[in-house]
Amino acid sequence: MFSRFPPVAIPIRQVSHPHTALRTAARLKGNPLRFSRIQEPLRTVRSTPAKRHFHSTSAAMTDPSKTKSESEWRAILSPEQFRILREKGTERAGTGKYDKFYEEGVYTCAGCGTPLYKSTTKFNSGCGWPAFFDAIPGAVQRHEDRSFGMTRIEITCAACGGHLGHVFKGEGFPTPTDERHCVNSVSLNFVEDKDKKN
Ligand SMILES: [Zn+2]
Repeated sequence: MFSRFPPVAIPIRQVSHPHTALRTAARLKGNPLRFSRIQEPLRTVRSTPAKRHFHSTSAAMTDPSKTKSESEWRAILSPEQFRILREKGTERAGTGKYDKFYEEGVYTCAGCGTPLYKSTTKFNSGCGWPAFFDAIPGAVQRHEDRSFGMTRIEITCAACGGHLGHVFKGEGFPTPTDERHCVNSVSLNFVEDKDKKN
């Protein structure tokens, strides 16, 4: 069993981790692994049925007051935020500003500002993206994602439908849920909990 918290997450890469799959997809296209080079091929790969599936499920359950048209989102989001939140992109491993960030507070949706995760549920998974073992109740929706030839659980902001990342279960982390919400830093904004400071 684990003697320390958090554990070193060596086994994660050995199962069909999403980002391993991304690199595989890029490699098949004959591209180097540099993230800037693999954006276009990935967009091509993820264009068809999975994308329709995403949109049909997430759009039906969002809060109309928090949703916007594509052009409205483009106007308020940075290009990187738009690529990840609205086009279901992924930031490069280990580059996100909240990957190794452990201040006390709340993480809100970078698209609509809805509180999504508390810092008390954040843990170090070692995988290169912010990891949480649970979301604020009702804040996050789950959708089956069959892109890249595997079945994963995509998570989106329940209010605006923005893409957050994926949830992985049963990996053996010693957390209360044994779930890992693998979330892009770009999809989040941290709000410090000032009440807990002196
Ligand atoms: Zn949102």
